[in-house]
Amino acid sequence: MRFVDPDRYAALKATGKLPSPKGVALSIIRLLQRDDFRIADLVQLVQSDPAIAGRILYFANAAAFGRSRPMVSLPRAIVALGSFRVRDLVIGLSVMHSHRSGQCPAFDYDAFWGHSLATGIACQELAHFAQIPSEEIFTIGLLARVGELALAAIFPEEYSALLTEARERNIEIGGLEQERFSLDHRELAATMLQEWGLPDVLIQAAFHHENPDAAGFADGSRVLTLTHSLSFASALAHICMVDEESRWSLLPSLLARAARLGISGDTLNEMVDRTVKRWREWGSKLQVRTQDIPPFAEILAASPPLRRMGVGPDNENRRVRPPSLNVQLIGIHASDLNPLMQQIDSLGHQPVLVDDTPDGLKQALRRPAQIIIADMSMPGFKPADFCKTLRRTPLGKDGYILLLAAPEDEDRIPDVLTAGADDVLIKPVNLQALRVHLNTAGRMLMLREEIHRERLGVLRSTDEFASAQKRLLQDALTDTLTQLPNRRNGLDFLASEWRFTQTSGSPLACLMLDIDHFKRINDTYGHAAGDEILRQLAEILRGTSRSEDMVFRYGGEEFAAILTNANVRIATQIGERIRGIVEKTDFRWQDQSISVTLSVGVAVSTGTEEDSQDLIQAADNALYQAKQTGRNRVVAAR
Ligand code: GH3
Ligand code: MG
Ligand code: MG
Repeated sequence: MRFVDPDRYAALKATGKLPSPKGVALSIIRLLQRDDFRIADLVQLVQSDPAIAGRILYFANAAAFGRSRPMVSLPRAIVALGSFRVRDLVIGLSVMHSHRSGQCPAFDYDAFWGHSLATGIACQELAHFAQIPSEEIFTIGLLARVGELALAAIFPEEYSALLTEARERNIEIGGLEQERFSLDHRELAATMLQEWGLPDVLIQAAFHHENPDAAGFADGSRVLTLTHSLSFASALAHICMVDEESRWSLLPSLLARAARLGISGDTLNEMVDRTVKRWREWGSKLQVRTQDIPPFAEILAASPPLRRMGVGPDNENRRVRPPSLNVQLIGIHASDLNPLMQQIDSLGHQPVLVDDTPDGLKQALRRPAQIIIADMSMPGFKPADFCKTLRRTPLGKDGYILLLAAPEDEDRIPDVLTAGADDVLIKPVNLQALRVHLNTAGRMLMLREEIHRERLGVLRSTDEFASAQKRLLQDALTDTLTQLPNRRNGLDFLASEWRFTQTSGSPLACLMLDIDHFKRINDTYGHAAGDEILRQLAEILRGTSRSEDMVFRYGGEEFAAILTNANVRIATQIGERIRGIVEKTDFRWQDQSISVTLSVGVAVSTGTEEDSQDLIQAADNALYQAKQTGRNRVVAAR
């Protein structure tokens, strides 16, 4: 794939102004271009720059979510990250370090790096969701906009004028760049990243992230997920950088992008808050400008900034004002009614009382308002049925349903949420909480509209959209029954770890684990019981694996574990531990207890295999031995 014409690129490089990795980073790029490079050389290079070494350690530890002990040795950290990811990280940090300021007057270098750092960190948080190595995606987040930095470096005056013009006319810079320079920042960034040797899939994502839908990537593909992740991360970074007023207007587009990734609700809130926290930490470490912003849930629930409310109807700012909504009130107790109406009114919405008679309810189902608040304890009212029915109607499908519950109704809440209620408030209703909910409702309705507009009828609502996206991603990487990584995912991981082993020389082990006489369990207790056993076993495997390893479902009642940096002794010990735990576990099906045993085959890479598949084969042979010699045992391949 070519972005900028090679002659043109050579000419740009010849100016000597093109941003580029320096020092240790450059040496690392060169080292990794050699076929005979050794991990020890890489360790030595990284060690020669204490600042970089410290950051690599920090990253290796940050990347291993849930690791019990911190990693303190640099070689271990480098092995865990993988040399190519170390290279990419160092490139990112090096470019940042040496291009913190420059000659282009209208280019805000501080804001650029603040935004880039937030993008990188947000990307990392997404890596966790999308199961993409987090250091790779960090670097691409950090460098996605490096083309702009490059244009500012090569054409400081012209680019400054261009930026000013784009701002004044409120137009995209890409078109102007093509006009003035016959290339744009996206092409330039992609070419630079190619030159530095970053993986193609990351470069594609960087190139297309400003407009992921135009890229034509296949639905559910890894590159599309990456591109959407980067697009979301960049939007979030934007929100991190701006003031409160602008933040408000950027929210709908951020939420739409989150929905594309299948992230919403508390997961989104927590993810954003973690991003901001780490951005602040890293910002102070790397001397990059950041700012404190409120918890995301608060941002979402907040009213529009006051200054905006006074603007005239023709001003484009009006766009961000939440529309005034009808709020139907059903079965609300007399003592709650007045304060509730006042709150609704003060938020600019219209309260509408609905008769709590069967006729009134029918009326509400036929002509639902955008927001419905109903009291679950109203006599004769079946909240779950009501929600289900409402969700089936064209108008009720997209509305916001808030139920009020008495404290003794608490255990009915899961049912009504499943039936389609958006939220439940326990009585007595706290007015502050109600306010937050109504704001959220207004925001959600706006978001739904935004997505309607953006995705024009392909998938109808946020929820459908989000779940469709999530499903695609899940399908691609996860086994549905056990929620463990699936075979494809596991074999990919094995292949990349195996390649790395070839150069690093660190041992890599594979366990194949197969349930003994599983057929009997199916035959005795039924297939559903068999499924449940597989789920419970998966849970055990998840619990016993180290964070740097991967356990996946190989197929049927067979599982595999890839153990990084484990020799045959450690791998056998781990296999033995798992076997022992399974043997002692009381597996449950309905009221019955079922005992399960495992046979385990162990193989360790000798460095002489043709490819990673041979390692699986060797473990499988050992597993066969274990079966032959009596089952419920661990056998290591010789
Ligand atoms: P061995 O000790 O030799 O491994 O005996 P086994 O019975 O476990 O092995 P065999 O390969 O003969 O049978 C495996 C059985 O696992 C057959 C298949 O019906 C069952 N199985 C495979 N996948 C699933 C699944 O997803 N759910 C359930 N319930 N059963 C499954
Ligand atoms: Mg079996
Ligand atoms: Mg089997």
